[in-house]
Amino acid sequence: MTDEHRQPEVNIGLVGHVDHGKTTLVEALSGEWTDQHSEEMKRGISIRLGYADATFRQCPGADEPEKYTVDEECPDGSKSEPLRTVSFVDAPGHETLMATMLSGASIMDGAVLVVSASEPVPQAQTEEHLMALDIIGIDNIVIAQNKVDLVDRETAADNYEQITEFVSGTVAEGAPIVPVSAQQGVNMDVLIQAIEAEIPTPERDPSEDAQMLVARSFDINRPGTTWDSLLGGVLGGSLVQGRLREGEDIELRPGREVEEGGQTEWRPVETTVRSLQAGGEDVQEATPGGLLGVGTGLDPSLTKGDALAGQVAGPPGTLPPTFEQFEMDVDLLERIVGETDEVEEISTGEPLMLTVGTATTVGSVTSARGGECEIALKRPVCAEPGAKIAINRRVGARWRLIGVGTLRE
Ligand code: GDP
Ligand code: MG
Repeated sequence: MTDEHRQPEVNIGLVGHVDHGKTTLVEALSGEWTDQHSEEMKRGISIRLGYADATFRQCPGADEPEKYTVDEECPDGSKSEPLRTVSFVDAPGHETLMATMLSGASIMDGAVLVVSASEPVPQAQTEEHLMALDIIGIDNIVIAQNKVDLVDRETAADNYEQITEFVSGTVAEGAPIVPVSAQQGVNMDVLIQAIEAEIPTPERDPSEDAQMLVARSFDINRPGTTWDSLLGGVLGGSLVQGRLREGEDIELRPGREVEEGGQTEWRPVETTVRSLQAGGEDVQEATPGGLLGVGTGLDPSLTKGDALAGQVAGPPGTLPPTFEQFEMDVDLLERIVGETDEVEEISTGEPLMLTVGTATTVGSVTSARGGECEIALKRPVCAEPGAKIAINRRVGARWRLIGVGTLRE
């Protein structure tokens, strides 16, 4: 691997209110515009969330924080040294569904919360996204106070105070707040310095079995492709542990629903890894961090249109169990973001939308007692007992985040 072809080793979420500059910031740091990755998505290496990789670099001999850069050339003409490659996960501008943000959060190792300096704090999604980080337990956070070019010094200072006050008592309390202008590329060195300090690459045990959270799946064949040149189904997602190698056998859970003698049942699907794409390159072996495209031997009709999104992939026999119903311990929020009323207890019979890993599934509550409930799912999920579950309730026309569950044994 040359230093220009490094695999990303950590996933950093971009969260915050629409138009506060998440995508512009990713572009400033990576040179890529995540909103336009729909072509890439078809090739199977992106997910519904936009993504872009960036290699953070340093100019040896330069002072802190000026030494941090994404440019290959330093101001003095010397060549910069790579520090590490990160993968940004960005919710596209049109995507306001919390479900998407929540399933993306399951693959985030840390997050940059982008807050515009030119609007009062907090805006609705600023609060909702921060709540989601809190619930999922993402506590490595850097706050980018963006668009400082639009405001005067006094407004910027006042906005900074508002941010500090807003995050106090949350998972982002004490997180560094870095004033930036993503559009003008101002203070990117300080932001990189803060990310390097606050969002370390998670320690990983390379001997663990591979576990990939599948966020998307595709049929990459053009219409009319003849059977003899048909390519197998493609999975897009992220490895949360272990390594995946070309040629390896994998299993997908929950798999597919099969009907036999009038009975339907979910059965794992087995296939082979035919190709791997990581960090935009074909690789023989993929490591955790970044988004991964996996070419498989699956019939593409099985992977078409995200049909396998939310599943888990890994060596056969190593994956967590599949649940068609489960019990969970429940922690409700005091109130839904933006509403004043208290969150009501979960009641028997009510439908809930649950996010477990990258899976989003609707379930019906079969029994509820203060602090715990039992749910029957429309589509089963593959998850480890102890997994965190984001719980959403239908309020008016929208699913709103009401709390977090913990999957019971
Ligand atoms: P997102 O919805 O959070 O991804 O926001 P975008 O990155 O799409 O940015 C929304 C708008 O704000 C775009 O028109 C950007 O050009 C603009 N914008 C983003 N960052 C800055 C900034 O630092 N300064 C100024 N003046 N405009 C910005
Ligand atoms: Mg955007």
